[in-house]
Amino acid sequence: MVVFEHRLAQARASMVDRKVDFLLLSVGADLPYFCGYEAMPLERLTMLVVPRDGDATLVVPHLEAPRVVERPDVFDVVTWRDGEDPIDLVAKCLSGAATAALGDQTWAGFALDLLSACPNLQLARASEVTAPIRMVKDAAEIEALRHAAAAVDRILADVQIGAMPLIGRTEVDVAGQIARRIIDEGHQRVNFTIVASGPNAASPHHEAGDRVIRQGESVLFDIGGTMAGVDGVGYCSDITRCVHIGPPPDGFAELYEVLYASQAAGVAAATVGTPCAEVDQAARQVINAAGYGEFFIHRTGHGIGIEAHEHPNMVSGNELPLAAGHTFSVEPGIYVPGMWGARLEDIVVATTDGPEPLNRIDHGLAVVDC
Ligand code: ZN
Ligand code: ZN
Ligand code: ZN
Repeated sequence: MVVFEHRLAQARASMVDRKVDFLLLSVGADLPYFCGYEAMPLERLTMLVVPRDGDATLVVPHLEAPRVVERPDVFDVVTWRDGEDPIDLVAKCLSGAATAALGDQTWAGFALDLLSACPNLQLARASEVTAPIRMVKDAAEIEALRHAAAAVDRILADVQIGAMPLIGRTEVDVAGQIARRIIDEGHQRVNFTIVASGPNAASPHHEAGDRVIRQGESVLFDIGGTMAGVDGVGYCSDITRCVHIGPPPDGFAELYEVLYASQAAGVAAATVGTPCAEVDQAARQVINAAGYGEFFIHRTGHGIGIEAHEHPNMVSGNELPLAAGHTFSVEPGIYVPGMWGARLEDIVVATTDGPEPLNRIDHGLAVVDC
């Protein structure tokens, strides 16, 4: 309970700095982070109304109320029934406010209705208030991320030693087996199971399909899920490893060497105080120097926590200096269309003792024979 009071106190301090009168949180990860309740992404409005001073109110559909764990020290609950107008309830709470920070993932329809009900209200993105707070993980959150990382490590470690047969199976068949393992290893939800064989790995977010995996080609695995963590709020895993079935051809082995060096450089650069853009640059310059620059077509990494992708991004232009407790991926990739691709990804925590990767399994190109 204390954790949510502490987080809301942080939010209120930020609202004072930013001259925001109200924080309005609906679907998305901000809501569970600040009050322990996750709204279903429904057409019925759920909204936590947080004034800069005064008590927070959770406006929630009557039929969802049984799911709410009441935390009277954190928020009051106001329910509405079908036929009533929940925007009215929110507008009453706002009574004459000038500015509100609205959850970034709030349905646009509700934002429009809110502006109709409060035509003078200035809206900002809630992430301006919430992201700087959510980015810095406390010890319990890092522990939750560590458990999730260890779980996916166990799965891909089995793939690396050849304990999961690949030859002759379709990508989607292997992806299904991995999805079951993600749950068996303690996750509550599977978020993605990318299994990309041969030339399919040149598409970074390839959807596992009917392609049959064959001897003599590479397979990229990028998998992750959500594991119940702190106060019932889940935290995410996300890892990428590549294997080669049989000895890799020289071109692919070389490409992977470059990728390996790039990822290590990105992790090494992720020290407290270093701007996020420099982590991207550290990984990118290794790939550029080897002549593969045009094939590295995305940012180096993204923040991770309650969401699989959250702030901060390791991307050019993001001058935010890393702080202790920032958790993020370092995942350069090299994608040669029509031929092959590879990516190598760890989740990393910035600490005062240096970058700490949460994924610990081997980073090399594992050669398997089954
Ligand atoms: Zn991705
Ligand atoms: Zn990933
Ligand atoms: Zn990732």
